[in-house]
Amino acid sequence: METATAQMELATVNAGFDSMIHEQLLDRRQRLENARTSEGRHDDISRLLGEVDAALLRFESGGYGVCIDCHGNVETDRLMNDPLMTVCLGCLTDKQRNSLESDLQLAADIQRGLLPKAGIACDVWNVDFAYHPAGIVSGDYVDIIERGDEFFFLLGDVSGKGMAASLLMSNLHAIFHSLVPTGMPLNELMLRANHLLCESSLANQYATLVLGKANRAGDVEIANAGHLAPALLKNGMIGELNHSGLPLGMFCSAEFEVNKVTLHKGDSLFLFTDGVTETMNPSGLEYGTTGLFNAICGSDPLAPNEMIRHCLSHIDTFRNGAARHDDLTILALAYN
Ligand SMILES: [Zn+2]
Repeated sequence: METATAQMELATVNAGFDSMIHEQLLDRRQRLENARTSEGRHDDISRLLGEVDAALLRFESGGYGVCIDCHGNVETDRLMNDPLMTVCLGCLTDKQRNSLESDLQLAADIQRGLLPKAGIACDVWNVDFAYHPAGIVSGDYVDIIERGDEFFFLLGDVSGKGMAASLLMSNLHAIFHSLVPTGMPLNELMLRANHLLCESSLANQYATLVLGKANRAGDVEIANAGHLAPALLKNGMIGELNHSGLPLGMFCSAEFEVNKVTLHKGDSLFLFTDGVTETMNPSGLEYGTTGLFNAICGSDPLAPNEMIRHCLSHIDTFRNGAARHDDLTILALAYN
């Protein structure tokens, strides 16, 4: 997710970034001094102390966060994870790059294990999804959680990119799989998930998310935390479920509205992340929702897997070989 709001959030975080990093470095220095007096691995500790002192020196001279190889900027999220980082991603050695890639691959395997089963269907609902990370790991979240005769569907997009975003996505998965079985109402689920995310994530980490609950009668309750409006397809027409609140994890005291809609035989819901609408073609034009709605809406209702296939092939044609920059996730639900 790379929106204007996300950039504003990042600017706020950058203001406190220096003092946070400085504090972290001093804390690490103190811990190393403590370890030096109590433990035997003095070589290792002296080396690490040298690295911390060098980082503090760079901090004082204004050179902190500058790549020692290319003099470009070291990525902020990587510095937050490891304040001793001295080179940018582009300047890693082959060995460092391989090690990072194998960590990311492990994270990707864990993430794939969190995805719902493909082609979920019961006698009244037919559900399918597509999950296409832009890199090795994704910051998108898609989920189906069954509970008795009902099921919950979730589609979200976490702020940031890479490993940090994928960890926050795993966190969302854990939060909802713990909360849903308690049977609390939808607005309460959102409130609790928001509190938990506020408590557990950094200030610049949040998620936009749609949470829905569907029953066998076709009744759907939906809460939207700042995510793109889901599309409702009915009798060959398409409309957007426009009610939306604040992202999860941004404001601890946020409240969430729940809206209801009833689907009849042949009606569908279509949810997507901004990787769909913000797909660019080689001239820099955005795909948007108009193209998307044309691709999925016809006089005959399409099954979820067909809607997704039409949408993906329409996007591919539009993109016309231009590079993909964002994770792309789609969730489609049809009531039979
Ligand atoms: Zn560099």
